[in-house]
This record gives sequence, structure tokens and C-alpha cells, in this order.
Amino acid sequence: MSVPLTIRILGAGVSGLAAAILLATDGHRVELIDEHFATPAVGTALALFPPAQSVLARLGVLREVRTLSAAPEVGTLRTSDGQVLATVPAGDALLTSRSELVRILLDALPGAVTTTRRRVEDIRPLREGADLLIGADGVHSLVRRSGGSGWAAARSHGVTVLRGTTPLAPPEISETWGRGWLFGITPLAGIGTNWFACVPEHRTGSRREDLAHLRRTVGGHRAVIDAVLAAATPQRTLVHGIHTVGPVWPVRQNVVLLGDAAHAMAPNLGHGANTALQDAQSLALAVRAQRGRGSAPYATAAGVRRSLRRHAARRALPDQGWRLASEATLRVAMTSSAAGWRDRMLTASLGRLGPRSG
Ligand SMILES: Cc1cc2nc3c(=O)[nH]c(=O)nc-3n(C[C@H](O)[C@H](O)[C@H](O)COP(=O)(O)OP(=O)(O)OC[C@H]3O[C@@H](n4cnc5c(N)ncnc54)[C@H](O)[C@@H]3O)c2cc1C
Repeated sequence: MSVPLTIRILGAGVSGLAAAILLATDGHRVELIDEHFATPAVGTALALFPPAQSVLARLGVLREVRTLSAAPEVGTLRTSDGQVLATVPAGDALLTSRSELVRILLDALPGAVTTTRRRVEDIRPLREGADLLIGADGVHSLVRRSGGSGWAAARSHGVTVLRGTTPLAPPEISETWGRGWLFGITPLAGIGTNWFACVPEHRTGSRREDLAHLRRTVGGHRAVIDAVLAAATPQRTLVHGIHTVGPVWPVRQNVVLLGDAAHAMAPNLGHGANTALQDAQSLALAVRAQRGRGSAPYATAAGVRRSLRRHAARRALPDQGWRLASEATLRVAMTSSAAGWRDRMLTASLGRLGPRSG
């Protein structure tokens, strides 16, 4: 007879929601705490690849996610004058609205999960009486910052991200790399176009002004970008910086970090939510494996710690690999001085990956 754990999860984003569903389904007592419990107002697209889709299947929501997603086959990587650098297969990714994904996961929370809406300023009370505390509280994680010098604050990359949606049909599926900027266009099922852009840090506090700055920076290069930006509105635009977390071992005693709290990465390879979902599954499996090792295995805190170490060891390579590769891609995409050299190199190498199209 195994003993259910008392588990607190701070953060009801993708990683916290997935962990709550999986651990509660396994019979643990789960409390999920978030200051919002809200679906994002602007549902920009997330690319979800097959490993993350298999986690969604385990969560019982893949079918619903699929019906609300676009599934393009290829996209193009282009220079600022529109030349195709590479035709990139989409790798069976689903393009899903972040709001829809969060809403679906919220709806899938088992009734046994206790939800508490509040902003947490001190994690010590969360550890009291809990066998396990999960920090799924995003890139600026309080749980991580409370963990001592080895769990550092996130760092900025001096880049501003603007992203949004428009009702237009997407004129193409592409990412365009200019001199010190990038602009992406994808479909978004049920909405029209999802777009995203990176420019050197520039935030005014007014989305209207930020959009105007973006139009000045990337406008006039490609007609498709101008068309998307002409349809963009401040109300349907999000503006923020890019912050990432250096390498951390995500386990301290009975505390574990998941998703962005553990390894926030640059958005350029679209793997933050994918790895967050895989983290949640890995943790749930590690806890379950420990539980299967005999009677009442969690009577000792050592049992919990063993499962956390097992989970962390399993996720270290993929999570840190995606983090490093995403940061490298951000640097290459955003280079200004080496943009000409970059485009020639990519034409010579990536261009051979697949058929070119105009
Ligand atoms: C422009 C952009 C594009 C992206 N595209 C993709 C993509 O295509 N594919 C992909 O896989 N990933 C993508 N990502 C990354 C992805 O969005 C994140 O990795 C993912 O959302 C992280 O989920 P999370 O649950 O770890 O954290 P979050 O979603 O940040 O959730 C953290 C939660 O914790 C709560 N919280 C935090 N602190 C407190 C507190 N003190 N008290 C109470 N509540 C608190 C917050 O309210 C929030 O709900 C993209 C990111 C960006 C910026």
C-alpha cells in the first residue's frame, strides 16, 4: 500500500498544470497555487512537437489540442529581401494558441487538485507540511531565487520581443532574418496569422509606440511583413524582453524546478513549452517509479529526493541542450555586423536541406 504525497506546485502555466494533472491522477494530494489562473489574453502560437504531443496524449488532451491547431508542413527561412535561405520541414509540429492550450489544461485539472489564487512572496510556508514543492513559476521563479546563490536570477539578452495575432490569412509561413532583427509569420487556427519579431532592446511602455518602432525597424524590406504589421493592433500585441536562466541543477532537498523556472531559454527554437511538458511527465514518472519500490516508500524524505534526482538526471541533457541551442540561434538570427556572412553560410549549408521555393 503506497502513501500519497502532499505536493505543492507554485505556478499554473504549462509545466505546473501538466504536473498537477499527472501527479493528482497518480493519487497524490496536490495544491496548485497561482496569482492568476487565467488564460493569456493574446493567444499567440506555440509550436508543439511530437514528444510534447505524446505528453498531451498522456494528459488526455491531445485530441482537443489537435482540433484547435494548425499543422503546416514546411516554412521558409529568408533574408531581409525575401530570398529563401532554407525550406524547413515543420517536423509534425502543431501550432497551437497558448491561450487554448492553457484553457484546455485548466479544464483537465482533476477535481481533487486544490487551487489557490494568490501571489506568493515567501516560499517557506509552502514547504511546511509538504513532501514536495514544485517551482513551476516561470522565468523569474521565486522558488529558484529563494534557493541560494547557485540558483541565480534570470539574465536579459538585450532583445525586445513583440508578438501578436491578426485576422488575416497568413501570407506565408516564414522567418525572416534581417540585420539585427527577425520577423516570423505562422498560421493560427481559428484566428488567422500569428506573428513575432525580435529587435534590439526598445520598450517605451506604450504598445502603440513599440509597434510604431517595430514598423520603422523592419518595415520596407518585405511586402508580406508590411502587410502583417499593417493589420497588427496594440490590443493584439504583446511586448516583453528575452530572459534566460543559466545552467542550474533543478533539485534542492524536496524542492524541484520545472519548465522555465529550471531552464528558461530563448524562444528561437520554440522549445520552452515542449521541454516544460516533458519535465512534468519525467517528474511524474520518477515519483511513480519510486513509489513502486516497496511498501510506503515515501515514509522517508529520502524516497522523494531519490525520485527528484532521477528526474533531474533524465532531463539535464535535453533541457540544457535546447537551452544552449536556442541561445546560439538567437545570436545568429540577431547579428547585425555579420549578417551578410551569416546569409552566405546558411545559403551554402542549410539551403541543401530541402527543396527551395520562391
Ligand atoms: C515569443 C515566445 C515564443 C515562444 N514560442 C514557443 C513555442 O513555439 N514552443 C514552445 O515550446 N515554447 C515557446 N515559448 C516558450 C514557452 O512559452 C515557455 O517556455 C512556457 O510557457 C513556460 O511554461 P512554464 O509553465 O514553465 O512557465 P509560465 O508559463 O511562465 O508559468 C508560470 C506561472 O507561475 C505564476 N507565478 C509566477 N510567480 C508567481 C508568484 N510569485 N506567485 C503566484 N504565481 C506565480 C504565473 O502567474 C504563471 O502562471 C515561447 C516563448 C516566447 C517568449
